[in-house]
Amino acid sequence: MSLYEIIKVPNPFLKIKAKPVIDINNNILTILNDMLETMYNANGIGLAATQIAIDKRLIVMDCGKSDFEESDVTEEEYDEKVRNNKIEPNPIKMINPEIINLGKDLQEREEGCLSIPGYNANVKRPSSLTVKYINENKKVITLEAKGLLATCIQHEIDHLNGILFIDHISKLKREIILKKAIKEYSKQ
Ligand code: ZN
Repeated sequence: MSLYEIIKVPNPFLKIKAKPVIDINNNILTILNDMLETMYNANGIGLAATQIAIDKRLIVMDCGKSDFEESDVTEEEYDEKVRNNKIEPNPIKMINPEIINLGKDLQEREEGCLSIPGYNANVKRPSSLTVKYINENKKVITLEAKGLLATCIQHEIDHLNGILFIDHISKLKREIILKKAIKEYSKQ
């Protein structure tokens, strides 16, 4: 296992549209494992290959395994459950994920991003979806998700298309966050 460096704004690689994986070989499986390790190490719940400057349609997530997908748990309640170890780990690795259906209802959640650490904003997105992907055993999986997992899947697939969560908020808010974040990171 090894850790990747997570790139931050304004790295232009974050705007790149990632390419589909054609051959699911050991290299891809190693990247996925190291992505999960990198995500856990950074206390994230999702990571896209774009964020480690790899131009492939790969995402990893762990929104936990619990009843939270059924009920609409807020981010704070989720964090509380994680702290109290009430949520079991549930690592998910997706190769070439594709949203095949988006629910009509919207939900608003506070989102953050390992590529814009320290800055959060509320984002409105569909509250449920169906995603199709290939897993690490080369099986095609169709998964229905709602709540936090649905938000996370949309956020990570956005990364593969060069889109950040701040692209979903107002131009004014986006520019404030970007300006502050870029100034802060340039000092590091
Ligand atoms: Zn992100």
